[in-house]
Amino acid sequence: MAVLSSSSSSRAPKLHMVLFPFMSKGHTIPLLHLARLLLDRGVLITIFTTPGNHPFISHSLPGTENISIIDLPFPENIPGIPPGAESTDKLSSMSLFLPFVNGIKCMQRFFEEALEKIHSQVSCIISDGFLHWTLQSASKFGIPRVSFYGMSNYANAVSMDAAAMLSIHESPDEPFTLPSFPSITLTRNHFDDPFDKRDQKGPYFDFIIESTIATVNSFGFLVNSFYELEKPYADHYRGLNNKSWNVGPLCLAQPPNPKHLPSDEKPEWILWLDQKLAEARPVLYIAFGSQAKISSAQLKEIAFGLEEAKVSFFWVVKKSEEEVWDDGFEDRVKERGIIVKEWVDQREILEHDAVQGFLSHCGWNSVLEGICAEVPIVAWPMMADQFLNAKMVEEEIKIGVRVNTVDGTPKGFVRRESLKNTVVEVMEGEKGKELRDKVKEVAEEARKAMAEGGSSWHELNGIVDEIHMG
Ligand code: UDP
Repeated sequence: MAVLSSSSSSRAPKLHMVLFPFMSKGHTIPLLHLARLLLDRGVLITIFTTPGNHPFISHSLPGTENISIIDLPFPENIPGIPPGAESTDKLSSMSLFLPFVNGIKCMQRFFEEALEKIHSQVSCIISDGFLHWTLQSASKFGIPRVSFYGMSNYANAVSMDAAAMLSIHESPDEPFTLPSFPSITLTRNHFDDPFDKRDQKGPYFDFIIESTIATVNSFGFLVNSFYELEKPYADHYRGLNNKSWNVGPLCLAQPPNPKHLPSDEKPEWILWLDQKLAEARPVLYIAFGSQAKISSAQLKEIAFGLEEAKVSFFWVVKKSEEEVWDDGFEDRVKERGIIVKEWVDQREILEHDAVQGFLSHCGWNSVLEGICAEVPIVAWPMMADQFLNAKMVEEEIKIGVRVNTVDGTPKGFVRRESLKNTVVEVMEGEKGKELRDKVKEVAEEARKAMAEGGSSWHELNGIVDEIHMG
C-alpha cells in the first residue's frame, strides 16, 4: 500500500482515499459528508461516479484542490433503464432496482482502468456495500476496501438476528421474538421482498448475500451512527463483523445554512417558514425521501388527514405525485399548508425554528437529520430498512410515534383519521412535548459524539490512523 507524498507545506505524507458512492441520493449524501470530515483531517479524496451524478456531487461539495471527481461511463442499454436514469431515484419503479444494480456491474472494467493510473497513491477504497464488485478491484491492486451501507447498527444487527426466524411461521404477520434481543418482536412483514417470504430466494436475495459476503471480507465497515445512540446493537454488530466504526451522524459535517440571510437570498419556502414562525404556528414537515412510491389512494388520504388535522404543514412531493388530490385541496389549505414539488434542502427545513414535527418514511438519513434538528418524528415506513428504523425511533430512542395502519401490519394502508390523530398528538399533545424533550437530549449526545474528543470523532481518527499505518 502506498501513501502519496504531501505536496503541501506539511512534511507528513498524505493519505489518499477513494470514495465510491452508490447512485442513489440516500447513499451518496452521507458519503459526501464523510468526504468533508476526511478533508478536514488532511486526506486527499477521489470520488468515482458517473456523468449524470457528477453535478449533484460537485454542487454538494465545496471546491477544493484536495478532491477530484472521476466519471466512469454509465452503461448503455441496460434493459428497462431509460437513458439518463443514472441514479435509482430516477427509476419509475423499484422493480428496476435489480436490472440497475446488475447493469452497473460492467463499470468494474472502467473502475479498474482508472485505478490502474492512481492505485500507487491510494491507501483505501470506501465503497458502498451495494457495489460489491469493488472488493475484487481493491484486492487486485492490494488496496483495503471499507464498506458503507448507511444503515443503523440496529437495522443491521436485527436483520442478521432475524434471519434464522423468517421461516418459522406460516403467516408473514405472525410475531416472533429475536434470539439475541428477546425484547424485540417482529413479523416477516417488517422486511421487504423476498425476506417477507417463508422461503427466501431469487436474484434480489442473491444480490444481498453477495453484497454481505463482500462486506464481511472487506477491511471493515463504516456506520453512519454514534455509539451512544445504540450501544447494544453496535456491540452486537461489531461482534459479527471483523471491524466497524461508528462515525456519525455524518449530516453534522455539513454546516447548516446561515439563518439570517437577506430575504432575496432565501428560497420562497424558507420565507413561508419565517412567516409561520412569526405567527407562532408550528409546522409539520412531511417528506418520504427520494425513493418511496406512494399510491394515489394513499396520497389522497394523506391530503384529507392533513386537512382534518388543521395543523400547518410543509409537504414535499415528487413530480409524479402532483395533483392526485381533489382540485380544491391546495386552495382550502393555502393559509396553513405549502406543497413543494422540487428538491429542497431538507436539513435547512428541519433546522428552521418553525418546524416542530417530521412526518417521515424513516430513511436512516432522515431519522438522523430529524434528531440533529431536535424534531420529533411521526414514523411512516414504506420500504427497505425503514420498518426497522421506525421501530427503533418509537421503541428504542423514543423520539417518535408510528402511524397506525388499518390492519395493524407494517405495510398496511393508513386512514385519514388515524393520520390526523397521530399528527395532532405530536404537534399539539402531551406526547409531543415528551418527544421534543427526548429528541433534544439525543441531539445533544449526537453533537457531543461528533465534536472533538467525542466517540465518532475518535472512531474516525481510529480508521484514518489504521489505514495510515497500513
Ligand atoms: N433529501 C433532500 N431533499 C429532498 C429529498 C431528499 O435533501 O427534496 C435528502 C434528505 O435530506 C436525506 C436524503 O435525501 O439526506 C434521503 O435519504 P433517506 O435515507 O432519508 O431516504 P431515501 O431517499 O434513501 O429513501
